[in-house]
Amino acid sequence: MRPFKTVQIIEVYKSLQGESSYTGLPCVFVRLAGCNLRCTWCDSEYTFKGGLRMSLEEIESEVHRLSPEGGLVEITGGEPLLQEREAVALMDRLLPRYTVLLETSGERPLERVPAGVVKIVDVKCPDSGEGDTFRIENLNALGRQDELKFVIASRQDYEFARDFIRQHVLNTRAGTVILSPAFRKDAAGGRDVSHCMVDPQHLAEWMLADGLNARLGLQIHKFIWEPSLKGV
Ligand code: SF4
Repeated sequence: MRPFKTVQIIEVYKSLQGESSYTGLPCVFVRLAGCNLRCTWCDSEYTFKGGLRMSLEEIESEVHRLSPEGGLVEITGGEPLLQEREAVALMDRLLPRYTVLLETSGERPLERVPAGVVKIVDVKCPDSGEGDTFRIENLNALGRQDELKFVIASRQDYEFARDFIRQHVLNTRAGTVILSPAFRKDAAGGRDVSHCMVDPQHLAEWMLADGLNARLGLQIHKFIWEPSLKGV
């Protein structure tokens, strides 16, 4: 049996937050290994295998080294809640000093995520290939500080997101609902919208035409750095 409270980690690094309502702020990313989904446009396939085991103390120490003044820390993956017990313990340790964000696919239970963590939860759309994986009970675990995110790869995805938002009155459950164009996973070279699977202008027009009370989000790290770069 593996020792309690070591975590399989891909990387710990500091960059700017590229998504969510915290976009543009400095953030330390703690990227856990492993994912049980296989989204067609996933840009994190390098997290599926490998990594190294780190103790909670080692991770916390590295976070402090990178961001001694406090600030944002995001627990991400892969799917970090595949290592739920360890991820929860890590978030508990970081919360007194940091604003802790958790990026998760929406497929794992959220009930044991510590209060005070900002949950950024995907609802997978049909073109992701994982469209039926959202755990509907998770809606009851959301608070006003939390965010729901739909990654949009087509008009079909947009209509799914629009109808889901309306059906579940999402704006009364989560503080922020975000629609974000999917980025091609093989994107490389130019830092521009040609890599988006849906033109952001089209997505904006659809949202405005439907009067959708949601935020259009762009993955700004794909526009700041070369899109194929890791650890940014
Ligand atoms: S849930 Fe995230 S890490 Fe897992 S396959 Fe989908 S995009 Fe990739």
